Amino acid sequence: MPAELTTPASAASTGARLIDGTALALKVRGDVATEVSALRARGVTPGLTVVLVGDDAASAVYVGAKEKASREAGMAGETIRLPASTSQAELLALVDRLNADRAVHGILVQMPLPKHIDPEAVIHRIRADKDVDGFHPVNVGKLLIGDRSGFAPCTPAGVQRMLVEYGVETRGADCVIVGRSTIVGKPMAALLLQSGVGGDATVTVCHSRTRDLREHTRRADILIAAVGRPHTITADMVKPGAVVIDVGVNRIADASRKSGTRLVGDVDFEAVRHVASLITPVPGGVGPMTIAMLLANTVRAARQLEVA
Ligand code: NAP
Repeated sequence: MPAELTTPASAASTGARLIDGTALALKVRGDVATEVSALRARGVTPGLTVVLVGDDAASAVYVGAKEKASREAGMAGETIRLPASTSQAELLALVDRLNADRAVHGILVQMPLPKHIDPEAVIHRIRADKDVDGFHPVNVGKLLIGDRSGFAPCTPAGVQRMLVEYGVETRGADCVIVGRSTIVGKPMAALLLQSGVGGDATVTVCHSRTRDLREHTRRADILIAAVGRPHTITADMVKPGAVVIDVGVNRIADASRKSGTRLVGDVDFEAVRHVASLITPVPGGVGPMTIAMLLANTVRAARQLEVA
């Protein structure tokens, strides 16, 4: 574990140590900035273009954070903001233009898209070697067959990186993932199954039709929740000493806050922290790692397209 991560991680007074996703994301972003400098010295400036269609408030916040982070890492790039009335044909034409633009190494079209645009048509149109979100079928296939030239989706890639950086042994570990989405659960399973560092786990994937969820989660050495429902994972569902990663982001009412709401994960954090050995908070856990891994994917895209 990097030395700079030990202080915040030890800050929990009782029970589990906290995984400090904010500190780790800063470290990853620092590594990316170093790589960007090296590429720039060779005349290549990694470029990330983010496309936002419509005016969804949450998406605008995510996109702003991605733009800021890529600029801070020394990358080129821009955010293209299009009105919600943009047609599918217009968006696909933009993707074609970005696919052909040699200054653009990573393309991200922010989801969700307005209802009249088919997200699959857009994802399929992005060149796989610029698909730094890792959703193109070619990248999904590469992840499954263990071809590391592809891009893994940023959130599960960030979780895997966390486990590695905190020295969590995945080899031979029983990993239970709750949630089977294309964005988180399924690629998380594929990453943990890969052979090598951060992989070699025995993986179980649970979902809404799983018969006895607790029976599975109680066996987990590493438990990953990606459900989107607060308090799905309670203390009685966790094996003592387990590592618990909470991907969930849920906004709940909280009268004590000025905003009247606060963010929580899928895990009953206050109870589970007394059972687990290591746990991610929400916010400040998995979330910051997602953007860091997007930058890491983009710098690798630039290297693969320009240098390799
Ligand atoms: P999703 O597509 O809605 O998938 C949720 C999964 O949870 C589904 O597979 C669903 O099963 C399963 N599920 C629902 N209720 C369940 C229950 N009671 N028991 C067991 N499984 C249950 O969500 P997602 O996109 O994967 O996101 C999951 C959470 O992670 C959300 O809170 C999201 O906001 C958050 N997230 C965070 C980040 C980040 O950067 N921090 C990134 C992505 C997502 P079925 O398939 O059977 O319906």
